[in-house]
Amino acid sequence: MEEKINYLEYKDLKIDPVIFTQGFVPGCDMRICGGQCCNWGVYMDRDFEKVIMNYETQIKDEMDEFQPRDSSVWFEKELEPDEDFPSGYAIGSELYISSLGVTQCVFKDKRGYCSLQVTAVNNGMHKWEIKPKYCIMYPLTIVDNVLTYDSDHSDRLDYCGRAHEENFTQTVFEAMTEEIKFIMGEDGYKFLYEHFNTNYKKKIQIEILK
Ligand code: SF4
Repeated sequence: MEEKINYLEYKDLKIDPVIFTQGFVPGCDMRICGGQCCNWGVYMDRDFEKVIMNYETQIKDEMDEFQPRDSSVWFEKELEPDEDFPSGYAIGSELYISSLGVTQCVFKDKRGYCSLQVTAVNNGMHKWEIKPKYCIMYPLTIVDNVLTYDSDHSDRLDYCGRAHEENFTQTVFEAMTEEIKFIMGEDGYKFLYEHFNTNYKKKIQIEILK
């Protein structure tokens, strides 16, 4: 029988308590992982394509010599019906073969950087202004309106993935302060922080001291 999960609720979002216990690395470090989480591309809301395409020229300017500058190959042609996206449809970023022979998102450059984030920073915008929400959130995700840990994606990753406990120093919740504030706002983060502090922090500290 499947174990019943006691979700927390904040406004209209459910929160899977796994985020308070799942381990994670000290932080994303592309010198170690090379941005491996970008090797499968990402789904975003259908309408976010337009937000990205508003900066088509600037994005092309930031791409390296191996990335496809032809914007007709940046997005998948088929939409996926998906109620977790505001329009009800998701669109995927396309993939290309990098200079190292690795398949990766069209927006990932040879350094492992996201050209969307580089474009935003170099054009005076917030670093996440034109970055898909699910890229910002990883290793968190939202599935069927539940904020949870992206275990499927994590299983493919060689540094921060859940099979690599030897690299863990903190929980996903502790690692994702900025990202959770982005998703849920300051009040939402405070709500979760109080829950974590009351129910998990002491237990985790005791486990560490054992
Ligand atoms: S859009 Fe950027 S962050 Fe998202 S998968 Fe592609 S390269 Fe990575």
